[in-house]
Amino acid sequence: MARNSDDAFKTAYDRAESYRARVTEAAPWPETSMAALRSRLGGPVPETGSAGDAVIADLADAAEPGLLAMTGPRMFGWVVGASHPVGMAADWLTTVWGQNAGNFHATPAAAIAEEVVRGWLLDLLDLPRESSVGFVTGATMANFVGLAAARSEVLRRAGWDLEENGLAGAPEIHVFIGDDAHTTVFSGLRFLGLGLKRAIRIPTDDQGRMSADTLAREMDDRPGPKIVIGQAGQINTGAFDPFEDIVQLCRQHDAWLHVDGAFGLWARACPDLKSMTTGIEGADSWATDGHKWLQVPYDSGFVFVRDAEAHRRAMTSAASYLPAAAEDERDPTHYVPELSRRARGFAAWAVIKALGRQGIVDMVIRHCQLARRLADQLRGMNGIEILNHVTLNQIAIGFGAGASKEVRDACTEQVLAILRKENRFVVGGALWKDRWIMRVSIISWPTRESDIDALGDAIGRAWGRVRRELPAKSAA
Ligand SMILES: *Cc1c(COP(=O)(O)O)cnc(C)c1O
Repeated sequence: MARNSDDAFKTAYDRAESYRARVTEAAPWPETSMAALRSRLGGPVPETGSAGDAVIADLADAAEPGLLAMTGPRMFGWVVGASHPVGMAADWLTTVWGQNAGNFHATPAAAIAEEVVRGWLLDLLDLPRESSVGFVTGATMANFVGLAAARSEVLRRAGWDLEENGLAGAPEIHVFIGDDAHTTVFSGLRFLGLGLKRAIRIPTDDQGRMSADTLAREMDDRPGPKIVIGQAGQINTGAFDPFEDIVQLCRQHDAWLHVDGAFGLWARACPDLKSMTTGIEGADSWATDGHKWLQVPYDSGFVFVRDAEAHRRAMTSAASYLPAAAEDERDPTHYVPELSRRARGFAAWAVIKALGRQGIVDMVIRHCQLARRLADQLRGMNGIEILNHVTLNQIAIGFGAGASKEVRDACTEQVLAILRKENRFVVGGALWKDRWIMRVSIISWPTRESDIDALGDAIGRAWGRVRRELPAKSAA
């Protein structure tokens, strides 16, 4: 058994090293077929066991052809981080230690790592230092937990005990959300019984920022408990909602303000970018990801709640067989939905330690500079439009400027298809303001200036090809 597992570790280590060495140069999209993957990974239940090293070698052989190079330097398709190697190493140890990290007394090292990272994150992101934190799987769950705390607290203020009585018969909660919020926030509303259709959608401007004037009118029209959901970093444009105005409205109405800052909240770590986030510190809860800009391996997200009491009330679970924690002992489970869970604090601790504040700031700033560099390169090309103000790391690109909607959408689709076929870069498509666009997210630690320049050239060449084939009268 022991020897078996030793060999499995060594094989895993070797395969990890060779994968990471190759991923920089490899074609990013998997080129194997689904059928090949099913056949390599499939088969009947193994009736007898196999040697550990053979199992791991088999797994790597079978899975590697079906992986997307998310940890490589040319991944721009979604807002995803690239799993920092030091975080990865810490994550291995987390698995090796096998801690069920719910309870302070049972796993004090895991609990205290979370306690320490809580302080570091509140300092880095400059959020109210009294806030509590939950270590979750990502921003989807961070939004869910923040909104659960919001739901509990606005009902408590209205004289309703949600934990005891549930939602049936409770005062109606009015939820206000920007029209360009992330889909996962709407999932959170669904999970919480707040409904998709009930939420009052506030119109947004061309950058995806909600209108504070409309929000004010909508809030005035509705007495009773209120939750407002703001966004720091729109996934197509990187834009921030007007938080100073929103915070003021929430104070006037005694409303809870939750902020989805999956990646955008990290602008607060950078003195040069912080002004974009002004006002955010006045919110009640904030969601952000560890596995996006901070580059913590999957999965890692954080929810912060100013009113720790409301956070705990919404999440806490007490079991008689778990040792009770004292006042100054933080049970990780009281801030998240799960009891049994991974010790997520270790990997975050290691990445923050490896990068340091300066490393994080430099990386975020570099990504934003690279975004401007690419936008400038593309702006110089006829028929290409940059549709957002490139102030963060997102670039929304339209093709076929001046042509009809159908032609423009077809142009974008064709450029995307060429790049997909070349398989040197991962870029995304999205529907933005009724237009099919290319979106580029620059958020991976290994991405260099040369990757961005090569991407700009590839986009330019692909667009050149599409343009030459356009019928003359619709040519931009
Ligand atoms: C990525 C993202 C989410 C969802 O986060 P996950 O980590 O995928 O759960 C929510 N909101 C925004 C703005 C995002 O960019």
